[in-house]
Amino acid sequence: MPPIAKAFDFIVIGGGSGGLACARRAAEFGVKAAIVEEARWGGTCVNVGCVPKKVMFNTAMHAEFIHDHKDYGFDVDYKGFNWAKIKGTRDAYIKRLNGIYESNLEKSKVDKIEGHAILTEDRCVQVGGQKYSAEHILIATGGKPIVPTNIPGAEHGITSDGFFELETLPKKVVVVGAGYIAVELAGIFNSLGSDTSILIRFDEVLRAFDPTISTNVTVNMEQGGVKVMRRTQVKSVTKKENGLLDLELNTGDKMTDVDCLLWAVGRVPLSENIGLEKLGIKMDNKGHIVVDEFQNTTGSKIYALGDVCGKALLTPVAIAAGRKLAHRLFDNKSDWKLDYTDIPTVIFSHPPSATLGLTQVIFSHPPSATLGLTQGKLYPVDYTDIPTVIFSHPPSATLGLTQVIFSHPPSATLGLTQGKLYYWKLDYTDIPTVIFSHPPSATLGLTQAEAEEKYGKEKIKAYKSEFTPMYFAVTTRKEKCHMKLICLLPDEKVIGLHMVGQGVDEMLQGFSVAVKMGATKAQFDSAVAIHPTSSEELVTMR
Ligand code: FAD
Ligand code: NDP
Repeated sequence: MPPIAKAFDFIVIGGGSGGLACARRAAEFGVKAAIVEEARWGGTCVNVGCVPKKVMFNTAMHAEFIHDHKDYGFDVDYKGFNWAKIKGTRDAYIKRLNGIYESNLEKSKVDKIEGHAILTEDRCVQVGGQKYSAEHILIATGGKPIVPTNIPGAEHGITSDGFFELETLPKKVVVVGAGYIAVELAGIFNSLGSDTSILIRFDEVLRAFDPTISTNVTVNMEQGGVKVMRRTQVKSVTKKENGLLDLELNTGDKMTDVDCLLWAVGRVPLSENIGLEKLGIKMDNKGHIVVDEFQNTTGSKIYALGDVCGKALLTPVAIAAGRKLAHRLFDNKSDWKLDYTDIPTVIFSHPPSATLGLTQVIFSHPPSATLGLTQGKLYPVDYTDIPTVIFSHPPSATLGLTQVIFSHPPSATLGLTQGKLYYWKLDYTDIPTVIFSHPPSATLGLTQAEAEEKYGKEKIKAYKSEFTPMYFAVTTRKEKCHMKLICLLPDEKVIGLHMVGQGVDEMLQGFSVAVKMGATKAQFDSAVAIHPTSSEELVTMR
């Protein structure tokens, strides 16, 4: 075994969403950190996930709007679509992002190590012929798409990784799967003009979601032109001399001359061949690394987060878990951890779907709740704050405890509130309003000047953000988005919210509820972001 080339405080394996966020935050606290990446900086999200997918989603949205142009009075003829053009622009954008991620590491003074990392028996990290030691080690190696191994000829299909390599728009596409990726990529192909079929094992896509999503997304796909083939599975795949594929199905039917078969049947963690077994790091039967609520593995001072742990496979989840871990280990925030409940998520279907929390609550006594959420994982049921309505005249509505007496130990009385939860007069504070400027402006609460006048300058803290929304990453026309939060010290209660930019007209309503409820900046930040969107900026401002 080679001698130790360099000693660090912290080594991160995996330069994707979670690893990068954790390493950079750790370095802010003066930690000597290094990060190892074997492929492209930015990981799945940047290279073969959220980012290029969102560019293609936007492309597909244009294809849809073209059909509406005539109805809005525009005499525009559709003369075709150039896949190679958008692919070229998209690839160039991703390359720029790879460079930005790399230079951000340099700015943060995190050492970059390129190559495949393996844990050694003496608890070091080996990359090629070099060995590095660290007191703390994080595994954030993500995952990869599954290609079925039990279907003859399955290797002739591609996965989402291959989708981003396609040089032309396929004519006839078969997508297999019923989750996020199947829905999103089938929607893109269909909108851009491919003859698209989706093969699902049951009757609807996105089965683990509330029926508002699963039923309506399935209906929308069919109405939009996708052939939804229910209870259908591929039995075998044959590649012909002309390169096209013939599929044999479990229904006895055949599909011929398919030029793109795409498997979207889930992902597996990248936990093999990294030396976990040598250090007794426990994995579940699918290879996900087992961690506790603080991201501790069963190895001493070895942590894991993000997709490799198999829980809520979303970029903002990996990022938030990474940042919390850095604060816990290196910033004396000993109890910081990610709250995995109520994670909002968007499926970029056509039109998009957005979902959060439990799927359905049944008001039996005691109350029962059906579980669901994304990925079909079972999250523990939170029996608090279950809303209920008594259909009295007039009706009463109640939620949560009525009164808590802070004795030791605390006691709580249950039952209905004394008053009604309806207030029959309008509260004129915090009225949200939108100006349909180009781009739109959305505003709520006090301006900075009003806040400073009312409370004194020293009591007000403003958070600002200015960025170019991803939509403009591939356009010649650029348009900035500006956001500002006005907070009242000491607890940073949000008392003003002002935005100008694409989409802010649709963003403000939800945030107006939080402001009306008296939310603080910390409570904004406790919400997990939705990526890639512009609104995620509102819960990540620093
Ligand atoms: P990754 O980002 O996968 O990073 C892991 C990194 O580790 C990789 O770069 C890999 O090369 C590296 N690595 C692995 N093993 C080693 C090793 N031994 N040595 C060195 N390096 C190693 N999420 C959203 O929130 N919104 C979306 O819209 C969205 N769209 C998606 C679309 C697609 C098609 C896909 C596939 C995923 C999408 N996701 C989306 C999910 C999101 O991309 C992931 O949840 C996120 O990237 C996980 O981050 P991570 O840090 O855990 O892993
Ligand atoms: P998912 O786990 O979300 O979905 C895969 C689905 O495919 C399963 O739910 C299952 O549905 C179906 N399936 C499984 N095995 C088979 C099989 N052998 N044949 C046919 N169908 C099968 O995985 P994805 O790959 O779609 O996505 C991985 C994760 O990436 C997501 O869970 C999500 O967390 C993340 N992601 C997030 C996005 C976003 O935020 N917008 C976008 C893309 C990915 P059924 O049981 O009904 O058959």
